[in-house]
Parts: sequence; structure tokens; C-alpha cells
Amino acid sequence: MRTTLIGMDTETAYETPVTLLGLGDMGTALARAWLAAGRPLTVWNRTPEKAGPLVEEGARVAATQAEAVASTDGPVILCLLDDASVDEVLDGVDLNGKDVVNLTTSTPAQARQRARWAEKRGARFLDGGIMAVPPMIGHPETGGYVLYSGDLALFERHRELLEVPAGAKFVGEDPGHAALHDIALLSAMTGMFAGITHAFALMDQEKDLDRSRFAALLAEWLGAMAGSAHGIAAQLASGDYTEGVTSNLAMMTAANDTFLVTAEDQSVDPRLLTPYMELMSRRVAQGHGDEGLAGMVSLLRIE
Ligand code: NDP
Repeated sequence: MRTTLIGMDTETAYETPVTLLGLGDMGTALARAWLAAGRPLTVWNRTPEKAGPLVEEGARVAATQAEAVASTDGPVILCLLDDASVDEVLDGVDLNGKDVVNLTTSTPAQARQRARWAEKRGARFLDGGIMAVPPMIGHPETGGYVLYSGDLALFERHRELLEVPAGAKFVGEDPGHAALHDIALLSAMTGMFAGITHAFALMDQEKDLDRSRFAALLAEWLGAMAGSAHGIAAQLASGDYTEGVTSNLAMMTAANDTFLVTAEDQSVDPRLLTPYMELMSRRVAQGHGDEGLAGMVSLLRIE
């Protein structure tokens, strides 16, 4: 059947075949998104039973990973546990002429190595870092997306297909850059979770406080403060770390004692805050109390 939507040839849009290796929680969510969008999908998983429900939804199951890869001219998507499992799954499989998109979480170095590995096997390569959890996949309105880096032409060729499960953001032709962005974003999230943990610990002994009401304040406050990333980026770009500063480092560092005394009064271990406070104090001691936060970045560099 060939139908045409406004500006879109649906035969092209709906019939690009996809091969997916890996049907864990994330792989299964990806598979369902492509099936729901009417994509011809071939799947393979080490534990074949996981493919069963997808067959009922229209997936074709390959008996081996080699068969799955050979079955398509479309992209071969990998969504496996880790970099080692990619080696294990694709050992000896002919990838010549294939478009390989690796959504398996890896380090930037592993992604670069994987790109060289793919090139030696005659494959084009795109690395992806998934910024979503499985329930967000297939629901772009939830804001989930995948970061991509590597072969730009490959990204453009399959962009419409890649945008089916989640938004697609290309961050550079260095194949390590998607993983670097992924880990940087998750590292920032880890710091945020540390702050949330400390904040709830401060409230812990106050049994009459409404935690959900506090959570609403907390989420709103963190959202309001998140925009400070733009100011830090601007300072790093200009090299002037006093640019646009409204709350300078000396003032912020002076407030740290209030935080620490409050933690002690509330019987809370301040260990999640003190490493950052030590960095702030060090920067002020170096004579940079009039700066914002950008100067702290260089203090983390290991020479
Ligand atoms: P799961 O643990 O649910 O699934 C892991 C998958 O890898 C399964 O298909 C498993 O096969 C396969 N696998 C593991 N080891 C091997 C091996 N040695 N040989 C062959 N296959 C192997 O993980 P997810 O599906 O949740 O995650 C997949 C990728 O997506 C990971 O890299 C993860 O970091 C990333 N991701 C996941 C998110 C999430 O919230 N789940 C969020 C963002 C990224 P089998 O079924 O046989 O065990």
C-alpha cells in the first residue's frame, strides 16, 4: 500500500526495515515503538523467549545474530548491556556494508574504539546515548531523547526512523561525543540527587513536615537554578569568570558555615556537600572571591 501524507511519502517512511539486537527492558521498549510505527522489525536476543510477545506484535525473530544482521539493508541497532556484550554478540558476524547504530551505554573511549572496529569491518557507525527510561520510549512528549555522534550522513539517512522511539540529537562527528554528553548529563544528575538526598535528610527529624509539599518546593527551586549552567558556559567561553555575576563565590562560600551548622543541628552527615564546599573555599583563597562558579571547573582538572 502506498499512501501520501502531507509532505511525507509513507511507503518510504513506514517501510525502512530495522534490525534490533538486544531485548532487555530498553531494547523491548525500542522494538515496541518501531512496531507501533509500522516498521518492519527483525529482532534477536540471547535469551530467545524475550522475543515471544514481540512476534505477536509483528516482529520477525532471527535464529542467530548473524541472520538478523544479514536479513536487512536497514540499520542494525544494538541495545545490549555493555561494551563487552557488543563484542560477544558481534564476534565473527559479517558487518560489511551495514549501518550500525550502537545504543549500548559506553564510555567515550569505548565508543571511539567501537567506531574504529566498525570501520575495519566495512560498516558505517553511529553511537547513541539514551537519555530516557523505557516507559518514555515511544512517547516523545515525555521529553526523552537519544544523543548521537559519529557518521553524520548515517544519522541523516536514518533520522526519521531514529526519531520514532524518542527525540534524536546529533552532538558531533567524534563518535565519543554522544557518550561524553550522556555521562556528563548523568554526572550532573548524580550531583543533583546528592543535593536532594541531603535536603530530605535535613527534614528527616521533623516528623510534622509534609514531605510532598517540600518536594514541590525542591523541584521548583532546582528548576529555577538549573539555568545557571548557561551563565557558567558563557563565562567559560569568554574566560571572564566575573561576567554577569550576581552572587559571587565569596558570598556563597561565607554561607557554607550556615549550611554545615544546620546539618550538625539536624544530626546530618554533611559528606555530600563538603567536597564541593572545599573547592569553593580553595578558589576564594586563590583570590577569586569576585567570580561566579566557572573557575571551579579548572580545579577539578587532574594534570
Ligand atoms: P537489560 O539488563 O534489561 O538488558 C540487557 C540486554 O543485553 C539483554 O538483551 C541481554 O540479553 C543482553 N546481554 C547482556 N549481556 C549479554 C551478552 N554477554 N551476550 C549477549 N547479550 C547480552 O538492560 P536494558 O535493556 O535496560 O539496557 C540496555 C542498554 O540501554 C544498556 O547499555 C543501558 O545502559 C542502556 N540504557 C538503559 C536505560 C534503562 O533505564 N533501562 C536508560 C538509558 C540507557 P538477555 O536477555 O539474554 O539477558
